[in-house]
Amino acid sequence: MRVLFLLFISLFISKTALCQESFSVREILGHDIGADFSRHAQVTEFFKKLQQEYPNNSKIESYGVTHEGRELITMFLGSESVIENLDKIKADHKNHSEKEEIPLVWFSYNVHGNESSGSEAAMETALILLRDKVEWLDDVLVIIDPCLNPDGRDRYVNFFKQYASASNNPNTLSLEHREPWPGGRLNHYLFDLNRDWAWLTQIESVYRLKLYNQWLPHVHVDFHEQGINENYYFPPAAEPYHEIITDWQREFQELIGENHAEYFDSNDWLYFSDEIFDLLYPSYGDTYPMFNGAIGMTYEQAGSSRAGTSVILDNGDTLTLRDRIDHHVTTGLSTIEVAIKHRKKLIEEFRDFSQSQPYKYESYILSGEEYKMKALIEFLNLHEIEAFSAQQNLNIKAWSYQSQQKVAYKTRQSDVVVSTNQLKGPLVKVLFEPQTFLKDSLTYDITAWSLPYAYGLEAFACEQLIPIDEIQVSPPKEIRGVKENVYAYVCTWSSMESARFLERLLSQNVAIRFAKKPFEIDGQYYGMGSLIILVGDNEGVNINEIIKKAAGNTLVDIAAFNSGHVERGNDFGSSSFELITKAKIGLLMGDYFSPTNVGEIWYFFENDLETSFDMLHITDIVEVIDIIDYDILMLPEGEFSDEFREMLEEWVSQGGKLILFGESITHFSDALGISERNMDMDEDGDSFDPDEREEVSYMITGAIYECDIDFSNPLAFGYKNYYTLRQNQEVYKLRGKGSVFKLHENAQQIGGFVGSMVSSEQSNASIAGVGNLKEGQIIYFIDNPLFRCFWESGKLMVANALYFVND
Ligand SMILES: [Zn+2]
Repeated sequence: MRVLFLLFISLFISKTALCQESFSVREILGHDIGADFSRHAQVTEFFKKLQQEYPNNSKIESYGVTHEGRELITMFLGSESVIENLDKIKADHKNHSEKEEIPLVWFSYNVHGNESSGSEAAMETALILLRDKVEWLDDVLVIIDPCLNPDGRDRYVNFFKQYASASNNPNTLSLEHREPWPGGRLNHYLFDLNRDWAWLTQIESVYRLKLYNQWLPHVHVDFHEQGINENYYFPPAAEPYHEIITDWQREFQELIGENHAEYFDSNDWLYFSDEIFDLLYPSYGDTYPMFNGAIGMTYEQAGSSRAGTSVILDNGDTLTLRDRIDHHVTTGLSTIEVAIKHRKKLIEEFRDFSQSQPYKYESYILSGEEYKMKALIEFLNLHEIEAFSAQQNLNIKAWSYQSQQKVAYKTRQSDVVVSTNQLKGPLVKVLFEPQTFLKDSLTYDITAWSLPYAYGLEAFACEQLIPIDEIQVSPPKEIRGVKENVYAYVCTWSSMESARFLERLLSQNVAIRFAKKPFEIDGQYYGMGSLIILVGDNEGVNINEIIKKAAGNTLVDIAAFNSGHVERGNDFGSSSFELITKAKIGLLMGDYFSPTNVGEIWYFFENDLETSFDMLHITDIVEVIDIIDYDILMLPEGEFSDEFREMLEEWVSQGGKLILFGESITHFSDALGISERNMDMDEDGDSFDPDEREEVSYMITGAIYECDIDFSNPLAFGYKNYYTLRQNQEVYKLRGKGSVFKLHENAQQIGGFVGSMVSSEQSNASIAGVGNLKEGQIIYFIDNPLFRCFWESGKLMVANALYFVND
């Protein structure tokens, strides 16, 4: 690739050499920027030294630590008076003060760890601004986060440094261009942090959003890399745009695109815009800032792990790390230039954003169990979305999420109200609206995510603001019932809180039973799956103390009774109360499995369930590990050999429990008796061309459906209803009674895009179920309930599979 440096880059490079007494890039990094990759510790060191060199114009804020202990930092770059008065600038901005004069421009690099020119470009951009462009800082405050995903980035950089040849071998067949599974794109738990801005399941996202919410910048850029043969992408973005995106947010993208194009034209660099990258799904680094009033943008450079420090392209050109940095530095500086030029308008439009449009629904009313409400309120707090309690006994007319029509509803005091009449109102609309308007069906991601379905809450969308009270947070529950001569403790099975409680007791070797049939005691009804702890099963320990401690600060409902004699159903000594055994669990992982699905299961075990398990590498299973030692194996979505499948089937036949996800079900077609499947589509294509307009009519790209449930099956314990997030259009119909969760006859989606050609085929599609193979079971989740770990209502299903599905 022919590269002509821009004037300012040439100036910068000549100055680097002169500057070495006081601030030496080479001393800090061991190389010039672009000559090699820098580990995250070197990047943070670089920024700290740079701050010491330019103390009047910069400030570092350390905002958190990753799962693997790496520091997360941002640098603020501004004029002397801005850096001195950062708190005041922040307050003026948050208060929409008339005094506000400078726009806030936030750059995020390396959210995908192996898109590795990011942090390098961040260092160079900061250096140029402080040394060569300091006069710009009179009119702008720049916030640079050099690496959103340090664990992933170091995973890549460490790999590269181990195998890189001294000559910077550009041949893609050489190992340094062939990053091993799982790659550095994802964070510690193998989550894609650029799908997590809205769901905040990962610690990096939570820390970042806390800082982001303090500032809410006017402009946010997320720097990425794509395939090595692609040309640079910058805005304007492609349709579909979410309907709340304002004319100004569209217009500014045009201005940015025009400015970038001038620089790229003058250097003969190739680029494209207006294609592929849309603005709909709210969990990206461009859409999330957009829905908070910023101009949110994605920039994509050719690169990723394939590129190394230099690589030969299909057209015979060589792409170097230096080229990649130049392009990202250019678009960064050009962005600041445009922001300065249009600063007045940026500030005005941002101020008006939260009142920018009338929304159809002004209040969302949520109704449901306390623990579900608690989880939702904690989530809203992270977003700084205000929630209130409803005033009691208001007679309202509202659209019901469950019955899909306008109904009369009388509010209850325990109901929670979230309104669009707040700073975060636009985000409220995006996250809660029953259906997302879709102007164009070609999108990069899922098209439905409405929170009431994700949390399994009853909900109503109301066209008016309704009267509210201060929110009441439920206090932790005490153990109810008798205090002395306790015979049994009973705990309802209804949520992940019950599952964590069970897991804590199991880890202390407490004997626990679960109810295979419903029963009634002291006038209280208990459903299937209720947990029974008999004092007689646990002699010699202070079981009351252990239970109290295990319940902790949760909202788990636990009651104590003097007798095992029940009014309806079987007494506690009956065989319908089965002992739960602590299972030995293995999670299969390695080359042929989806890294994100492995990560979702891993994260679920450690953070949702707080349980221990073994990670089993697929090559070890063939050579070292005897799976007969395991009670449960988790099989993520992936490809593997027939020999491996036969080994698993043999293990299941002998009494093993295999829990599998997504397309992995196809390996067990015979064992499970899959009678029908429509599979004429290849569903993974990241880029769209005109032909795909037709293809899309054969696709489901994340749509919500209500399920039919077989309540007699343990997989459904604790459920009253369930809405699934379909992640693709594949339909499996199984022999016999395998499906526990399936779509209705003539199923219609409740939200999201469903292609016209596959819509009618969704009737009775299996979603989750159980198949038996001699002594063992295969439990399958065709729609992954752990997808990005944000579909809260799906998690109990996986806990049910672990503890209760036994015969
Ligand atoms: Zn990326």
